[in-house]
Amino acid sequence: MKIALKFKHSVLVLSLFFVATLSAQTNSKFKVVLDAGHGAHDIGATYHGFVEKNINLAIVLKLGKILEADPSVQVIYTRNDDTFVDLVERANIANRADANFFVSIHCNANKNTEPYGSETFVMGLSKSASSLAIAKKENAVITLEDNYKSKYAGYDPNSPESLISATLAQEEYLDQSIELASRIQDGLENKLNRKSRGVAQAPFMVLHKAFMPRVLIETGFISNKDEGAYLNSEEGQQNMAKTIADAIFRMKVEHFGGTMPVIDIKKYEKPIVKDSTPKIKEQTQVKDTSKEIKKTIELKPDAKTVDPNKVIFKVQLKASKTKIESKPESFNGLDKISFVLEKEYYKYMFGETNDYEVSKKQLAEARTKGFDSAFIVTFKNGIKISLNEALKK
Ligand SMILES: [Zn+2]
Repeated sequence: MKIALKFKHSVLVLSLFFVATLSAQTNSKFKVVLDAGHGAHDIGATYHGFVEKNINLAIVLKLGKILEADPSVQVIYTRNDDTFVDLVERANIANRADANFFVSIHCNANKNTEPYGSETFVMGLSKSASSLAIAKKENAVITLEDNYKSKYAGYDPNSPESLISATLAQEEYLDQSIELASRIQDGLENKLNRKSRGVAQAPFMVLHKAFMPRVLIETGFISNKDEGAYLNSEEGQQNMAKTIADAIFRMKVEHFGGTMPVIDIKKYEKPIVKDSTPKIKEQTQVKDTSKEIKKTIELKPDAKTVDPNKVIFKVQLKASKTKIESKPESFNGLDKISFVLEKEYYKYMFGETNDYEVSKKQLAEARTKGFDSAFIVTFKNGIKISLNEALKK
């Protein structure tokens, strides 16, 4: 009797355990928080009859639909209709959900109606006046919120730089934020055939308050008639959504496993007019350099000068759950392949240098060899550190 009871008890414990495991599995979805900028009385920018808040929402809803088609993905919306949500609340929605990524969608605008192109921001310092101006404009929304002065304790919307000291503690998310941002811009430029203004850092309040890899996409300028019309069109929104979804899925597959869905991105037919846009910003610290460096591939690294005591830059080509032989044939002819094993993934890297500029050239070389989503990784004493940390050293 005693034995039978014990047995019954352990069956109960065991089945409880299974229930717990099962619910843990259903909760272990890959969570993406989509944030449609502005809403309700905060309309965002408006030009030529195009209204930013509506375009942001339309892109977000289309993007969410594509992501949700994958049952392993859970999408959480900061707003899915025309309502007003505080900036800090948008970030808190993502924090409470313990999201894997936070993606905020906006449209850019400029008094000069010529500039066009998309730009993706990650949180951080900006050396560029115009990046700061964009952050300032997007942050100014808080002045429409109730009690914003107490809620944002001393933050001055006119000097977004004041967010920086508080944000340095969050550097751990910067690598993946930059990687996601680079993939988005890469997709918008190379898959969708739209003009890319690259990746930049700027102090956005909504990014500052969210604790996970996070980006803010300025999908294009609605002040530019052509681009505004594209962003305002069903087709344009669908293609922006597809391209951003493609980048998010690539990050998911790379870092969290799973398979890549097929996303058919329809190339924008009008060719991009290269360099015709007036420059409204200087180079920023982490601008995606893929465009510039594609032109200068001839540089080969000087491997023998690598100092193991200094920061080492390598180019990550791909990650794989199974081991790949580190020979040139397996890597489209690239040699000097090394790898690290991280969380069940073999991460394969090309090149090794103490010089960031050389590494950028190696990145360009990797991309010309077909590794479109390659990126730079940095090590100090054999330990991976963030690119930002490395550049400070
Ligand atoms: Zn905006």
